[in-house]
Amino acid sequence: MNKIEHIGIAVKNLKSANETYSKLFNQDPYKMEVVTSEAVTTSFFQIGESKIELLEGNSPESAISKYIEKRGEGIHHIAYAVQDIEQERDRLIKEGFQPIGEIKPGADNKLVCFFHPKSANSVLVELCQERS
Ligand code: ZN
Repeated sequence: MNKIEHIGIAVKNLKSANETYSKLFNQDPYKMEVVTSEAVTTSFFQIGESKIELLEGNSPESAISKYIEKRGEGIHHIAYAVQDIEQERDRLIKEGFQPIGEIKPGADNKLVCFFHPKSANSVLVELCQERS
């Protein structure tokens, strides 16, 4: 793994969270994006080399909506940049980490995959690889 790519924060209302975080960072998100496969709308802020992703669920069945219902708003996942997502995913599975679903297109022009929070001390792990 190369670095932390971003930290994902689950929010109830993306519009109001965008306003809050725009004040916090003194800048607007550089991107907003609907990820249909995940039923979420996301926004991204660039802080130096780091990124923050805000996520709002688009339906009650969305994983983000369910998360918020159970645990409230807050840090939802940490995403790590990898060079070769297939290789790294296989490596983690061999190490006993429990994958959630397959590798798929994610927000911000990335290929992504997830590992269950149970596998990593209650933090959802996202791997992401830049799409060429
Ligand atoms: Zn993410």
